[in-house]
Amino acid sequence: SVSAVPQYFKGFAVSSSENWNKPKLVEYERKQIQPHDVVIKNVACGLCGSDLHTLREQWMPMQRKELVVGHEIVGHVMAVGDKVTQFKVGQRVGVGAASASCKDCVRCKNNNEHYCKKQVLTYNSHDEKTGYVTQGGYSSHSIADEDFVFPIPDKMDFTVAGPLMCAGLTVFSPLIRNLGEDATGKTVGIIGIGGLGHLAIQFANALGAKVVTFSRSSSKKEQALSMGADSFVATGEEEGWNTKYEDSFDLMLNCASGVDGLNLSDYLDVLKVDANFVSVGLPPAKDSFQLSPISFLGNGGSFGSSFLGSKKEAMKMLEIAAEKGVKPWIEEIDISEENCHEALTRCHNGDVRYRFVFTGFDKAFGN
Ligand code: NDP
Ligand code: ZN
Repeated sequence: SVSAVPQYFKGFAVSSSENWNKPKLVEYERKQIQPHDVVIKNVACGLCGSDLHTLREQWMPMQRKELVVGHEIVGHVMAVGDKVTQFKVGQRVGVGAASASCKDCVRCKNNNEHYCKKQVLTYNSHDEKTGYVTQGGYSSHSIADEDFVFPIPDKMDFTVAGPLMCAGLTVFSPLIRNLGEDATGKTVGIIGIGGLGHLAIQFANALGAKVVTFSRSSSKKEQALSMGADSFVATGEEEGWNTKYEDSFDLMLNCASGVDGLNLSDYLDVLKVDANFVSVGLPPAKDSFQLSPISFLGNGGSFGSSFLGSKKEAMKMLEIAAEKGVKPWIEEIDISEENCHEALTRCHNGDVRYRFVFTGFDKAFGN
């Protein structure tokens, strides 16, 4: 079946950061299919904040001409490599922000494959084995190692599953690593209500935690409460908010894509003893978190981070999402040059509630 996979895929690509919001439809040579690879005919793809950081070269330069981003990919399996055991042609699957690893190191063997030193990200990542620079899901097809492909529950729509592949998994992993799968009686703070944050509110709620959300303004207040938050703080409008929350948080999860108005000392101040502040938000490399060393002192708190999640966690996340009705709030938009432009621009302007999902792949690519 691998021989039927076209040698060239189609996708919406950008070649320089000045044109970050002007992807053009291109054809590009696909990566060589490895024995454990799954080839997917894409049906939809979410727009993650990381797509913007990458296209604007806020973390690192683009690693190739005609870079295609997108790592909230869902579709049907169209072919599998010789050694694939976990998937069959036709199955509904998704891929998140990572797509391969060494399979052999201590991390890969202990459900931390997303932290493998040889891990290959889904786009803009140099795959040492094949020499290929990976291409994302604003495209006709995707290829990923089966350990990075997740089966989508039968009753879950493709468009709902899309944002769970990156945003959902990225917030679910630190929630359960810090709180366990039953967070009853615990309180979680969620900072930054975008694609990641709005799913963090819902997953924390589904695990039984009490949720306090932090946003720069009050414009998302009603929506955050309706997602399951118990209270809401508009940090830009409520000076001294931290005095009201002393000794409150078992976990503070930062989902903000920038550092504007993010006063780290205030957040560390309100942790319970030994609790963690974990940042999944990845602001541009030129930015930094400002912090007085004294901030840690009062409660023995820690500052940490978290990157994606394991396949094991992805499976658990999908199960809980299906069972508890955790659902991204999405705006569907047909994939095309104009609509890539519109969605990237609007996400950059904070004008999306709360995730764009590209659809209409059949029409765009003649899939
Ligand atoms: P979104 O653009 O959907 O949301 C980001 C949110 O951050 C906004 O809704 C806003 O929340 C806040 N925000 C936006 N701009 C600024 C700014 N300049 N200063 C402070 N806060 C800001 O992005 P995503 O949710 O998709 O991604 C969030 C971050 O997480 C990104 O940096 C992304 O790259 C990163 N990420 C990290 C992963 C990991 O594994 N660690 C995986 C995936 C993404 P509000 O209006 O409520 O203040
Ligand atoms: Zn992402």
